Amino acid sequence: MTCEDAHLNMHDYISGELAAEYHRPLLDHLDECPNCREFFKQTTNIQTTMRDFMQYEAPFELQTAVSSILANA
Ligand SMILES: [Zn+2]
Repeated sequence: MTCEDAHLNMHDYISGELAAEYHRPLLDHLDECPNCREFFKQTTNIQTTMRDFMQYEAPFELQTAVSSILANA
């Protein structure tokens, strides 16, 4: 995934429109890319993310991954 793709996917992810199959590639990119991680952090926050998780019932593993990324950003 390129940074450009990651930025596009982030917006869909935050609005809950990103297909589940793209969640992991996006999170992997955020894990590897400080620039995108910072962008993601600025674009969202834990509360928004957790609200979306509850709404879309993301797997616990995914919630943990995002919480960890946000905590390390
Ligand atoms: Zn990036």
